[in-house]
Amino acid sequence: MGSNLDEKIEPTFQQVVNRNPGESEFHQAVREVLESLGPVLVKYPEFAHHKIIERICEPERQIIFRVPWMDTNKEVQINRGFRVQFNSALGPYKGGLRLHPSVNLGIIKFLGFEQIFKNALTSMPIGGGKGGADFDPKGKTEGEMMRFCQSFMTELYRYIGEYTDVPAGDIGVGGREIGYLFGQYKRLVNRYESGVLTGKGVGWGGSLARTEATGYGATFFLNEMLKVRNDSLDGKLCLVSGAGNVAIYAIEKLHQLGAKVVTCSDSNGVIYDEKGIDLALVKQLKEVERRRIKDYASYHKHAKYIADGNIWEIPCDVAMPCATQNELSGKDAATLIKNGCIAVSEGANMPTTPEGVKIFLEAKIAYGPGKAANAGGVATSALEMQQNACRDAWTFEYTAQKLSEIMKSIHNLCYETAEEFGTPGNYVYGANIAGFIRVAKAMLAMGLI
Ligand code: NDP
Repeated sequence: MGSNLDEKIEPTFQQVVNRNPGESEFHQAVREVLESLGPVLVKYPEFAHHKIIERICEPERQIIFRVPWMDTNKEVQINRGFRVQFNSALGPYKGGLRLHPSVNLGIIKFLGFEQIFKNALTSMPIGGGKGGADFDPKGKTEGEMMRFCQSFMTELYRYIGEYTDVPAGDIGVGGREIGYLFGQYKRLVNRYESGVLTGKGVGWGGSLARTEATGYGATFFLNEMLKVRNDSLDGKLCLVSGAGNVAIYAIEKLHQLGAKVVTCSDSNGVIYDEKGIDLALVKQLKEVERRRIKDYASYHKHAKYIADGNIWEIPCDVAMPCATQNELSGKDAATLIKNGCIAVSEGANMPTTPEGVKIFLEAKIAYGPGKAANAGGVATSALEMQQNACRDAWTFEYTAQKLSEIMKSIHNLCYETAEEFGTPGNYVYGANIAGFIRVAKAMLAMGLI
């Protein structure tokens, strides 16, 4: 990869690589942010003087712990749990918990690092953190899920709290898991501390519209990018990857805004339904029955299931990667452009490889990076914290309206920052710079923290 790093910043990046060996996703996320910061140090030399970049790249605290639990065959299982408390300059650490066999320290650090700037973009009082475990929820029984969550929280509870660190869901952690985690936290601390976790069930502290927020928000962001180009989602042909929380609600909002989504996927394959994805069926399969997406094709004979297929080869106007990191390569980006794709909004975190991002930026399509486009989830988590703090529960309409205003304001902040720093239309620079400046100013004001 060629170096786009400012020569003053290059040694900092090298230091991050040397001090965190083998953490390739973390290096990738750091590099992507640092590549944007050259002009920031020219405008704010005090940031360099006070080594703000070096400090931001070092987590405030990293916790790694054993998670023992017993499976249904009475066999002892051991997983590794993580919580990386990255930066609390703007508020309590905030970020999800991921349960997936691929989880390791480097993955959690990449996600925690991204989270700092994403949370700053929301303009809400939340710092950045992330956690999870190398546990595979696939095929686990209800009892196993509960015992795992209880064991995980039995260690994690020491480090979190409504004013300290507020975890939420991510891959493999939805409403059911947040319920088990909250229940165990409540037993351990003997306190009904609603604001310690977000993504709770509606009726016991959860916020309406939180479930929908990430997918809806990424679609609002896409809509804002198209508006700038005097275009809209009406009639657009869309690809969405994934079939989890983010994908489902991205598809729902795309349909509401007049677009037609023809795909969804999981890690085994792709569903292509040229008549438009039947979202009620996807919800039933994934949210209720917890089945594989392959089963969609047994209900709709006209739909194709492509095992191990590459979703990005299907022609479209607009694409929303909503599954996982590095799911869209440079080659995929080139294929999308060749097939006429005019906009990409990332529901997932870092789904496009650096080569892919470069191709989107050079082609000057509307490209919304995850840290801006998918910030609606965490923003609505912050709204959940607000409701918990004032022991209130807002209506769906009120909360969704706030989400839509927040996404508009994140879009405008990124757009205006990109213009100000001489890279009009480049939301990657806009997001990185705007998020960084907000955190950096707070850190500067607080002395050597
Ligand atoms: P879920 O666990 O609900 O869903 C993840 C989906 O992506 C599943 O369908 C999963 O399939 C699929 N998937 C995972 N890996 C791959 C792969 N390699 N190829 C194709 N599909 C894959 O997670 P979420 O929807 O919550 O999260 C999706 C992304 O969005 C993640 O990057 C997450 O960090 C990000 N995000 C989530 C937020 C939220 O509020 N939930 C907020 C902001 C970002 P399978 O079942 O086969 O694993």
